[in-house]
Amino acid sequence: MDYDKVVTTTAWSPGPGCHGGCGVKLFIKDGKVVKVEGDESHPFSQGRACPRLLALTQYMYHPDRITHPLKRVGERGEGKFERITWEEALDTIETKLGKIKEEYGPESVLFCQGTGRDIGGPISFLA
Ligand code: SF4
Repeated sequence: MDYDKVVTTTAWSPGPGCHGGCGVKLFIKDGKVVKVEGDESHPFSQGRACPRLLALTQYMYHPDRITHPLKRVGERGEGKFERITWEEALDTIETKLGKIKEEYGPESVLFCQGTGRDIGGPISFLA
């Protein structure tokens, strides 16, 4: 396996979206992760790597992975969307939430999350 560098991290939100904190070695080539292994120096996982972790590059670079905001352009359920900018997406959300707040009051919107992962910070700002 040809690579430029190895980055060690843990499999919390930088990993496959889990929160067990397994030690991970990411093999990088030209700025892309080309291989993943368990980190044998990690005190908890000691080099072990589950299938979910080993499949990391498959879903990082899957051609169907959504990496930008999409706006529905057809009828609901029709499956028609167009790509929009992050600015347009955030402006749309801000406008709609503002309208709901104005019409029904701020307590009419509930923000909640499950085990956390990577949305804890952003959801606090949104709320
Ligand atoms: S065992 Fe796999 S899914 Fe669980 S925390 Fe470790 S890397 Fe993530």
